[in-house]
Amino acid sequence: MAANIRSVVVFCGSRVGNDPAWRSAAEALGRGLASSGIRLIYGGGRVGLMGAVADGALAAGGAVTGIIPDFLRAREVAHPGVTDLLVTDSMHTRKALMFEQADAFVTLPGGMGTLDETIEIITWRQLGLHDRPVLIANINGWATSMIAVLNGFVTDGFADASSRALYEVLPDAPAILRRLLTLPARMPADSARV
Ligand code: AMP
Repeated sequence: MAANIRSVVVFCGSRVGNDPAWRSAAEALGRGLASSGIRLIYGGGRVGLMGAVADGALAAGGAVTGIIPDFLRAREVAHPGVTDLLVTDSMHTRKALMFEQADAFVTLPGGMGTLDETIEIITWRQLGLHDRPVLIANINGWATSMIAVLNGFVTDGFADASSRALYEVLPDAPAILRRLLTLPARMPADSARV
């Protein structure tokens, strides 16, 4: 099935983690994006779940844009097979480029970098800098502790209950794909720069 949106940014780990389901989910998401005609935009590495989602998309004939800062190019082992590899001068430029190109954001399991990128894009939505969907894949409970932290901010009075609408928590890659296929094309006005 073809999607209305054209591209999705995926945030995920530069390691595969301890649960084999996470690598399988990353590959499945990559394949699903490709077969839906959605370009994958991600951190540009060939390691960890980052490599798995890119490999899944490329194996299924999808378009993949990797965006990597020059200082990380060697450390994260830039993926040699992506359709486009954009090398930036800093993490800030990388994040801004990813932000500009995304019609929606998806978080797969990962570590601190994944957490940072996810929270940042949620706070940018809270600040009204964009109004694009943020989908979090809670595969085998990976996101449960992160969501508990966010809910704690509501309980403690540091966030409004409406902040729960800034992101959606979905159980697995097929649910993420089904949700992506329901999204309308991005409004031209939603292209704020950060
Ligand atoms: P991780 O989830 O820690 O494996 O990191 C996943 C991705 O986030 C990688 O592409 C990293 O380059 C990126 N990343 C790592 N640390 C940070 C950070 N402090 N801020 C933003 N992104 C990061």
